[in-house]
Amino acid sequence: MRKVHTLVVGGGPGGLSAATALAQAGREVLLIEKNPAIGPKLCAGYLPFDADARRMEIPAPVIEKIHRERIFHFGERRLQINDEPRITFSRIELGQAMLHQAKGAGVVVETGRRLRGWRGREARVDDEAIEFSYLIGADGSNSTVRRGLDLPVRSFCVAFQVALPEARPAVECFFDYPRYACWPAWLIPHRDHVVVGLGGDPRYLPLTKMKSELRELIRRLGHSPEKYPLSGSRLATDYPGHVFGNIFLVGDAAGLVEDWSGYGIYAAWASGREAAQAILGLTTRFPLIASVLAAKRRQRRLIQAMTRSPAVGRAVLGLMPAALRVLPWARRWLRSSPYSEA
Ligand SMILES: Cc1cc2nc3c(=O)[nH]c(=O)nc-3n(C[C@H](O)[C@H](O)[C@H](O)COP(=O)(O)OP(=O)(O)OC[C@H]3O[C@@H](n4cnc5c(N)ncnc54)[C@H](O)[C@@H]3O)c2cc1C
Repeated sequence: MRKVHTLVVGGGPGGLSAATALAQAGREVLLIEKNPAIGPKLCAGYLPFDADARRMEIPAPVIEKIHRERIFHFGERRLQINDEPRITFSRIELGQAMLHQAKGAGVVVETGRRLRGWRGREARVDDEAIEFSYLIGADGSNSTVRRGLDLPVRSFCVAFQVALPEARPAVECFFDYPRYACWPAWLIPHRDHVVVGLGGDPRYLPLTKMKSELRELIRRLGHSPEKYPLSGSRLATDYPGHVFGNIFLVGDAAGLVEDWSGYGIYAAWASGREAAQAILGLTTRFPLIASVLAAKRRQRRLIQAMTRSPAVGRAVLGLMPAALRVLPWARRWLRSSPYSEA
């Protein structure tokens, strides 16, 4: 039977960052990915915090655009803000760059291979038994590892998006309580297209409404929605823990995606890195995961307040333009991620 030090399940940013860090420290790592290729993923391809992008050391060729300007729409009101640079990229290119780094460090990567389950230290990968010392579940929101640990997903968001063939200069966020409840719709410019999307908790923003409002936004942007079918995906938002003896959960598998903004790439990368450090015995603390969880708690409190009472929700969105204009802390609040300053 094949034996590895660590078996990493999933070739997204969480799995690749964990695998690379372990291999760089000389551990024998096998990363399996059920899809035939590393990289493709339904995603807006946006990293909203410059510091996060720098910490991830995203190579310059992967970056498609750098944005300093953001436009917020609050119903009919429009507000433009210029602040720290934010980047867009293609998930395929990010995946390929991270794969290159992982292979360079010595990670063995096998695509088209699916974890079926495990017993003790023996994993079943398709028809092969593989013995591991550590198992990392970086297998996304529908995680087999999480299910195997008997940790059901109790809360989740759903996000839909579409790529429109046009060029726009700035990232745009659309807030409109009657349409989207407390969540923003987004427009993210890429090199030759823009990604337009909307997500939220379906308990408060039902899926049929989410889809019809996104189609309406596409129409308002001057495109016919019939030409652009929506793609959607579910994102686990509840965190059940991330260390279970010799088994770790990272990224979306651990529910680390932000509840309000839906950003999860940096959280996946950071949690993968910290899981590797723990396996290497370098740390028993997880400061990056702790700051992701703090951001999630703040966002969850905001969502609870805004969805419990539509009056509060409308009032918060009504105050936001003025607050964004005059109060730096409100802008940081909207950025909602304290870890970019860590
Ligand atoms: C519409 C939408 C837009 C988004 N836009 C952004 C954005 O702009 N910025 C941002 O920061 N976040 C965004 N996100 C969230 C982001 O995509 C995720 O948080 C991020 O990809 C999580 O990385 P991960 O490595 O944890 O999981 P994933 O990227 O989901 O990778 C998990 C991998 O595991 C593989 N896998 C699953 N099961 C198995 C198995 N049994 N065996 C082997 N392999 C398996 C999957 O094929 C997948 O490749 C968006 C999400 C959605 C739905």
